[in-house]
Amino acid sequence: MKSFKCKCGNLLFFDNSICLQCGSSVGYEPERREMCVIDAKGKLAYCANGATYGACNWLVKPVPQKAGAPPPPPLLCKSCQLTQTIPDLTDPNNVVLWARTEAAKRRLLVTFDLLGISLPPKSVDPGRGIAFDLISRKTSPELMMGHLNGNITVHVDEADDTEREITRNHLNEPVRTMLGHFRHESGHYIWERWQNPLPPDDPQRLAFREIFGDETQSEYSAAIAKNYQEGPAPDWQSHFITAYASSHPWEDWAETWGFYLQIVDGLETVDAMGLQQGRKTPYVKPFPPEAGTLPSMLPQKRRHDAAFLDWLNRWITFSTVLNELSKSLGHAPLHPFVLSIPVARKLRLIHWLVEEFRNAG
Ligand SMILES: [Zn+2]
Ligand SMILES: [Zn+2]
Ligand SMILES: [Zn+2]
Repeated sequence: MKSFKCKCGNLLFFDNSICLQCGSSVGYEPERREMCVIDAKGKLAYCANGATYGACNWLVKPVPQKAGAPPPPPLLCKSCQLTQTIPDLTDPNNVVLWARTEAAKRRLLVTFDLLGISLPPKSVDPGRGIAFDLISRKTSPELMMGHLNGNITVHVDEADDTEREITRNHLNEPVRTMLGHFRHESGHYIWERWQNPLPPDDPQRLAFREIFGDETQSEYSAAIAKNYQEGPAPDWQSHFITAYASSHPWEDWAETWGFYLQIVDGLETVDAMGLQQGRKTPYVKPFPPEAGTLPSMLPQKRRHDAAFLDWLNRWITFSTVLNELSKSLGHAPLHPFVLSIPVARKLRLIHWLVEEFRNAG
């Protein structure tokens, strides 16, 4: 994530709605991709969900009020427009959980923006668009978290730290976050958008199968059920980013995609903060060249393979620093993942696909 500056010169962060130095009301303006000050000129205003519930810090351009006419209705920002279902806000607890959920979603949207992948609302583009159903498991226990035809369902209940931690422990996951849920489900969405239109012999589809496995070989719901009942294969670490990724090629893709977005956001933050790897930084063993190679059916670009590995090695270095810092503060490692060569090649394929589809839909 980038960091930003207030007009007073103070450092601002993406989630801020007030500048602690000058007291200005601030918010994120998605068209300009900047944090902006809301001033008396009235050119910018908080999104309706921010103004009413404090649930959003993105800005909109308000419609000017005509003389004698009633005030125009408050507008929803680009992020809130993508949410088609929200929980019952007469329950004050839901307002808090929903606001945290929307905050995670906004961070996802900014990473897509950074990668040049548009996210049209499903109401405008039913075939390629996206919509979010942010629901309470307590009132809608029949609705599972997941993705279906562009609709992403997320349980706002998981924004409760205690509840999420209990689930994380129960499922034996290394980390569980709201942002992680959005990144994972966005992986299912983008897989359908990119892979579904391709003919069966398209090199991109064959490349997916070579690297992630043939998604038609195991019946999806049976594979997921088996994973929850029997647990993953004992040697999953040598091929998968998480144990859950080993349940099915679609889940492997979604888990790895989520991990890819995490690196993109993480390294942007590293750059925004001006951090560099010093000569004395103990370098974790870099990946060998084969970890950066693409499947043979795709055009080979050795220079890009090397650039990808530099990028990945950089992340490994900073995430190692992050883990050690976390332990220095008395916490568990923040980022407890070990990347094998097969996982690096999965990330390489995702990186290549992102470049192919960047600004092309
Ligand atoms: Zn300021
Ligand atoms: Zn909003
Ligand atoms: Zn999934």
